[in-house]
Amino acid sequence: MILVINKLATEKEISSIKEKICSMGCQPHESIGINYRIIGIVGDTHNIDQSVFQKNRIIDNVIRIQEPYKKANRLFHPDNTEIKVGNETIGGNKLAIIAGPCSVESEEQILSIAKSVKASGAGFLRGGAFKPRTSPYSFQGLKKHGLELLKYAKKETGLPIVSEIMSTEFLDDFVEDVDIIQVGARNMQNFELLKELGKINKPILLKRGLSSTIEELLMSAEYILAGGNENVILCERGIRTFEKYTRNTLDLSAILAIKKLSHLPVIVDPSHATGLWWMVEALSKAAVAVGADGLIIEVHNDPENALCDGSQSVKPNRFDDIMKKLKLIAEIENKAI
Ligand code: PEP
Ligand code: MN
Repeated sequence: MILVINKLATEKEISSIKEKICSMGCQPHESIGINYRIIGIVGDTHNIDQSVFQKNRIIDNVIRIQEPYKKANRLFHPDNTEIKVGNETIGGNKLAIIAGPCSVESEEQILSIAKSVKASGAGFLRGGAFKPRTSPYSFQGLKKHGLELLKYAKKETGLPIVSEIMSTEFLDDFVEDVDIIQVGARNMQNFELLKELGKINKPILLKRGLSSTIEELLMSAEYILAGGNENVILCERGIRTFEKYTRNTLDLSAILAIKKLSHLPVIVDPSHATGLWWMVEALSKAAVAVGADGLIIEVHNDPENALCDGSQSVKPNRFDDIMKKLKLIAEIENKAI
């Protein structure tokens, strides 16, 4: 961190800044130029809140030279993180394919979809039991009964399950019943929830917020990591832009950026990114081609009558087709599927 000192600052004021830096466990390193006087803060600056200096009247500018996240930073953890979930590993050589309906609707629905995505080669079953809906009048999910149905589908197919948590109210149920706990885009900055998830050991699938920067996503991951839970998988699910043709805009460059900045695995959700089932195949292939560690795809056996997100859900036979094509792309990337 570099502090640009105002020309009118007195020696006494500058000394007090230096003392403050020392009291934070760092060292001040001063350079005096013709036009500027700057103080570099040397040491571990992760715990330093930039605003402490920004609000000081003798400091014109505070320039951060290191990212504000530490545990999520590749700088301090050069190797890719691999997360074990049952017999599967996310972040390694094998692509994690998570597939299933937006929401669990009934026993027949979840079981039939689970069986078909498994037959096509998916490694995980997704299904929302607690749904964050824009309208309070829309289907809100089957809640605890939904989790029971997911457990049943897991028992029948062996597929580990991924489901979204919306608050800490049912945290114990999620820890007990779910293999990967999803934090949805709308809750990416629910810091109290993230802190609680930092205290458990379950893998967390953290989705990028609707209008969050990559740095904000990594800072949210940092909340979970800082609490002691190192099992965080990130997900690019499209961000809000001025474009209205698609539901969101899929930011594929985020995969490359996150891979450079962080060691955490990152997957892509082409379903929520586009809102359009017919774009899912092409963008799934693109995601694998840019180096995503996996995909989360909405699959429904009867999209026309789905209670949530039918227009972005592919049918089981199309999902099967997508898997076949992904195998080819995975091969080029030296990955298994
Ligand atoms: C979902 O996965 O069904 C979902 C609601 O996703 P997001 O939080 O990305 O909108
Ligand atoms: Mn959905």
